[in-house]
Amino acid sequence: MQSPMLEYAFFQGNYVPFAEANISIGTHCVQYGTGAFAGIRGYLDQDGETINIFRLPDHSARLLNSAKLLRMDLPFDRDSLAATIAGLVERNAPTSDVYIRPFVYKPAVQLTPRLRGIGDELAVYMMSMGDYLKLDRGQKAIVSSWFRIPDNAIPSRGKVSGAYINSAFAKDEAEEKGADEAIMLDTSGHVAEGSGCNLFVVRNGTLITPPITSDVLEGITRRSILQFAEDAGIPTEVREIDRTELYIADEAFFCGTGVQVAWIEAIDGRPVGNQTRGPVTEHLQTTFFDTVRGRNTRYADWLTPIRSRVATAAD
Ligand code: PMP
Repeated sequence: MQSPMLEYAFFQGNYVPFAEANISIGTHCVQYGTGAFAGIRGYLDQDGETINIFRLPDHSARLLNSAKLLRMDLPFDRDSLAATIAGLVERNAPTSDVYIRPFVYKPAVQLTPRLRGIGDELAVYMMSMGDYLKLDRGQKAIVSSWFRIPDNAIPSRGKVSGAYINSAFAKDEAEEKGADEAIMLDTSGHVAEGSGCNLFVVRNGTLITPPITSDVLEGITRRSILQFAEDAGIPTEVREIDRTELYIADEAFFCGTGVQVAWIEAIDGRPVGNQTRGPVTEHLQTTFFDTVRGRNTRYADWLTPIRSRVATAAD
C-alpha cells in the first residue's frame, strides 16, 4: 500500500524529508508523553485547485496553550506557527484532502518526569486522509467504563500527548464491544466526550453540548458547530448532560477534526431517535462540509487557502 505520508516534514527548524525527521528512543516525550499535538484538516476546495486549511490560527493558538500548560518555551507565536504549518502545506503541494499533525515535545534524553530544563521542539508532518469514521451510516457508541481524565490530573482542555492513553482505553473498550466509538463520562458522572471528538445531543429541537468544565477538549469543531447553530436560529445550551439523557435524545452526533460530523444511531444498544440522521444534525453537517469545501462563503474567514500543485502545474 502506498504511504499516505507526504514528502516533507518540519523538524528542528527546517523543512526536511519526512524520512529524516527522527528522534531518539530515549526522548522524554516518548517515555512520559510530555508533548502536545494538533490535528488539522486541509480540504480540497470545490474549485479543485485550492487546499482550504480549516481554522489554522485557532488550532495554532490551542497548540500554544497546550505548550504553555507544559511550561514550554518555543520561538513561535500564533501567527508564526500558523505560517510554518501553511509553509509545509505549500511545500508538499497536496492534490487531495490532508490531515496535518503539528506537535510540540520535550526532546531531551532525561530520566526524571518533570516539565522544565528538558528543552522544547516543534515538528509537523502531514498525510493524505479521507473520512476517519464512515459517514454514510450512523455510529454505534457505548458509554465507556473509563472516566475522562479530570483536568487536575492531566489537563483535559488541551491536546496533551500522554493524555491519549485515556482515549486509547476508551476506544479499545468500544471496539472490543463491537461499537465504533466510546462516550466518556467525567468523574462526577456527567457526559464528557468521545475518545477523539466532542459530543452533541438534540432534545426537542435544542442543541446541547457539555461545557468545557466537564473535562472536555476545547474543541474547534465544537465551537464551529455552536456558531453554525446560532446563525441558523437553532437554540443551543452548553450545560452538563446526564447519562440517561443520551438514551432519550432525539439526535446525537460526534464532531471533531478527524470524525468531522458523524451522527450516532445507537448508544449502549439503545436506538437514538428513529435511527436516522436527524434534521438538526443534517443541517449542521451540510453547513460544515459546505464551509470546508468553499461552497458556503459566510465562514470563508475560517479557511486558509493554499494553491495546490494541480494549479501550479497549469500556471
Ligand atoms: N476531544 C478529543 C479528546 C479530541 O482528541 C478531539 C480531536 N482533536 C476533539 C475532542 C475534537 O477537537 P477538534 O474539533 O478541535 O478537532
